[in-house]
Amino acid sequence: MKLITILLLIFLFPLLACAQEDFEAKRIEMVKKQIIARGINDGPTIRAMRKVPRQDFVPDAYRDQAYRDAPLSIGYGQTISQPYIVALMTEKTKPSKGKKALEIGTGSGYQAAVLAEIVDSVYTIELIPGLARHAAKVLSGLHYDNVVPKQGDGYRGWPEHAPFDIILVTAAGDHIPRPLINQLAENGRLIMPVGQPGSFQQLVLLTKRNGRIKRKNLATVQFVPLQRE
Ligand code: SAH
Repeated sequence: MKLITILLLIFLFPLLACAQEDFEAKRIEMVKKQIIARGINDGPTIRAMRKVPRQDFVPDAYRDQAYRDAPLSIGYGQTISQPYIVALMTEKTKPSKGKKALEIGTGSGYQAAVLAEIVDSVYTIELIPGLARHAAKVLSGLHYDNVVPKQGDGYRGWPEHAPFDIILVTAAGDHIPRPLINQLAENGRLIMPVGQPGSFQQLVLLTKRNGRIKRKNLATVQFVPLQRE
């Protein structure tokens, strides 16, 4: 019995180590071809995208597709965004040490992990209980102790922890929720896909300076809808 266990370990260990290396190689390639080649040049964003094990955030059946240039299903009719879109949204928030972020739409937890590699803390809210539970488990399993997840309706933001330097909404709505604008810190940046859910939307960037809000359209995107409780 003992011998079988030892033999199994001897043969399985290199296999597992090999699979990890394989994912790392795919991740480096993904960052080169899908992220840097398309103009993302923020150092912290690139380093974070090179580090976060995306395969751990997708359903088991899709692990080998984790580094594809596409969104993937995470169940409940929801998706984990395409890597490029995650990188673009991250870069545009100008993340850095010392900042506090709020994400609406935890989904798989991947975007929260990417931000958590850079900023001090990430508060993230997910409406669907099954997704919220799963993401919290994956994030704590990977020791993202600076991510604070909760289940609930993100439309109202998280007033107890406001203001936030960064607010990222990863679901589309026809307007930016007023509570989120109110919870944005001075010099803060809010990004959200705005437009008709089910069609294409504009990725909108809001910045707050001296209490005044400036709005800019960044790109055309397609996101799942922001729902209400
Ligand atoms: N950022 C995610 C992808 C988000 S998909 C990732 O990295 O995987 C959008 C998510 O927003 C879905 O999981 C959806 O359930 C969630 N969502 C939709 N409306 C919401 C709301 N009002 N509050 C919180 N989450 C919401």
